Amino acid sequence: MKRRDLIKYLSVAPIAGAAIGMGVPQALAGTVATTAKRDVIKELGLRTFINAAGTYTTMTASLMHNEVVDTIQSASNHFVMINEVQDKVGEKIAAMCHAESAMVTAGCWSALVLGTAGVLTRMDRKKVALLPNLSSFEKTEVIVQKSHNVGYVHALSNTGMVPVEVETAEEMERAITSKTAMMWFLNSSGPMGKIKHEEFVAIGKKHNIPTMIDMAADVPPVENLWKYNDLGFDLVCVSGGKALCGPQSAGILMGKKDLIAAARLNGPPNGGNIGRGMKVNKEEILGMYVALEKYINTDHAAEWKMWEDRVATIVAAASKVNGVRTEVFVPEVANHTPSLKITWDSSKVKITPKELHKNLQDGSPSVEVMTGQDAINITVFMLQNGEDKIVAKRVQEELAKAAVS
Ligand SMILES: *Cc1c(COP(=O)(O)O)cnc(C)c1O
Repeated sequence: MKRRDLIKYLSVAPIAGAAIGMGVPQALAGTVATTAKRDVIKELGLRTFINAAGTYTTMTASLMHNEVVDTIQSASNHFVMINEVQDKVGEKIAAMCHAESAMVTAGCWSALVLGTAGVLTRMDRKKVALLPNLSSFEKTEVIVQKSHNVGYVHALSNTGMVPVEVETAEEMERAITSKTAMMWFLNSSGPMGKIKHEEFVAIGKKHNIPTMIDMAADVPPVENLWKYNDLGFDLVCVSGGKALCGPQSAGILMGKKDLIAAARLNGPPNGGNIGRGMKVNKEEILGMYVALEKYINTDHAAEWKMWEDRVATIVAAASKVNGVRTEVFVPEVANHTPSLKITWDSSKVKITPKELHKNLQDGSPSVEVMTGQDAINITVFMLQNGEDKIVAKRVQEELAKAAVS
């Protein structure tokens, strides 16, 4: 341990007064050494950055709150039965979100797979062992609106289930056969689809076919956590590591009691099933619970105001550069938070969005933003306190550097 680090430590330790100036006793030096924390990210030379882009898996999505990290740490000191943790946490989550039952999964994707698997197998262990081979299954199809049939459907196909595309409510009714196992709604595509939530659920209920909704990135608003349970979806899937700021490797599957029980049969700690690899241990399960509780109890109006202030700070700085335009917007669904689009007159500011992105990445501190065709896009909900000012400064600096005088 370096001397200045020692002094830094001693200055906050209760015995500092006694030790400083008298030399450091050997025993104390030993204590100090074990208190020193390793910084593995630094050790390995990994780039850390300010996240002005958003909750992207590739960027490790979100940062956990201290309460969540403390929970993970304290849980890691004990053995408990994983099913008992799921039972207890499931009850709590279900109560908070108006569901009959819930479980913590390894992310929203895992909630989609396990929920779908449960719909196919119910409590039949023989069926559980067969997935993804559905050749002996009667029900093998999932009805999906055309505009909702994007990459996330692969989570359902993992189980062997085959998507059937429809566009209108009439088409949906006609597509229902004895093969129909489930109906799936992608919330982020909701505005694009012809069939809205209520009608979708009503058709499912009329034909006694379970409906599932993927609302992975769709808090805020907080009430979405119970809205789709209240609307009557049988299964609701959420990401734990996006705006909820729970463990990145966690998510929530909630809904009908029998379907959650069946989903659990298809995942760990049970084996010989499709989901054994989608493990969440007590740390993620308990961390998810604490993150959800903290999120629900957040002052959302105050948080929104803070985000607007951060956006305003960046707008004010970027606008100082001649030829730069800013546009504040809030996406209707998926990452529904104040966001900023920055564009510029390319005859006045000679830099492409890609080049600007690269300069921001390469700067100190490094900053990540999203790039569009002719713009950079910034979201502020993943910024830590004070980082809005740094982002504002860096964006202004790089745009000003490229401005023709
Ligand atoms: C992020 C996302 C997922 C996957 O969620 P994970 O928690 O990363 O597993 C699924 N569906 C949608 C719409 C998403 O945005």
